[in-house]
Amino acid sequence: MFKAVLIERDAQPYRAGVQSLDEARLPAGDVTVRIDYSTLNYKDALAITGKGPVVRQFPMVPGIDFAGTVASSSNSAYKNGDKVLLNGWGVGENHWGGLAQMARVKGEWLIPVPSAFSSRQAMAIGTAGYTAMLCVIALERHGITPDSGEILVTGAAGGVGSVALAVLSKLGFRVAAVTGRPAESDFLKQLGAAEILERAQFAAPGKPLSKERWAGAIDVVGSHTLANVCASLRYGGVVAACGLAGGMDFPGTVAPFILRGITLAGIDSVMRPRIDRLEAWRRLTQDLDIKKLDFLTEEITLSQVIERAALVLQGRIRGRIVVDTNR
Ligand code: NDP
Repeated sequence: MFKAVLIERDAQPYRAGVQSLDEARLPAGDVTVRIDYSTLNYKDALAITGKGPVVRQFPMVPGIDFAGTVASSSNSAYKNGDKVLLNGWGVGENHWGGLAQMARVKGEWLIPVPSAFSSRQAMAIGTAGYTAMLCVIALERHGITPDSGEILVTGAAGGVGSVALAVLSKLGFRVAAVTGRPAESDFLKQLGAAEILERAQFAAPGKPLSKERWAGAIDVVGSHTLANVCASLRYGGVVAACGLAGGMDFPGTVAPFILRGITLAGIDSVMRPRIDRLEAWRRLTQDLDIKKLDFLTEEITLSQVIERAALVLQGRIRGRIVVDTNR
């Protein structure tokens, strides 16, 4: 038997709770993993609360990521005792996921936990941190360097935002943080923000073009915020867009694209090819200050996951939440 968060929707309404499940119920896969840690991501919160159409089949164990130890494997790439991690691939959406003590998955979805990280650190980073790194790499691939100018990070006190701040500041960028929680200004400055800007400045409908300021941006909010970020990028600027915390719409104009040659780089972490995942995790071992990671991480137990999920969607969680699935 193993413990897991289980989401059910049958004759009774949508509900999530911790249950003891028989190992025989694990889905098909060639690698079985004893999970050490998982995390609570924005998408997990949507799945657990039922506020977003994340779960594709029921019953479902949520958790889009986990880190753990291989318990059995018929995949030649993995043997018992290997430390592995998983991000995405529809796990926690259409295949039982990481908010559990055990998972069974396709070996090709796994990557080794980098030797620089413990399982706990890997999940403190989690999908949010890995996505932040993908965003930073996207800016670099489009030619943005610390000499290009200032970088803007939206939703800065959240998971993607806080890791992005830590990484960008270590790389020598001057970073401005957008937040709806000015009370977190000290937190954001300690992570490396040089300046704090009010969320409200970006959230309302704006002009097609505004004053050129940012060389690059990482946006987790979408909607008017993303449109306003595009409108205030400098000539040739780049925004890596990965989120929809403020809405799925994109009410912008083509003006910044055709008059200032800006680039909108879309970031998906779920189906990202393995080679990019390995590179992002390698870069995290190099470009993320572990002291900052500890500072932005809070640990909770499996039984605390349900109540915290609601707080995530209210934007009341700071930084990253790591889940000890064995407590
Ligand atoms: P968090 O909940 O940790 O952080 C989101 C942050 O966005 C909040 O902390 C808050 O920051 C800000 N925010 C929340 N609500 C609003 C709002 N209505 N308007 C403006 N800002 C808001 O989530 P994550 O950082 O883990 O994820 C952020 C987004 O990125 C989510 O939409 C998530 O689904 C997406 N994502 C996408 C991935 C991909 O593969 N494309 C992978 C991972 C995440 P503050 O309080 O500082 O304002």
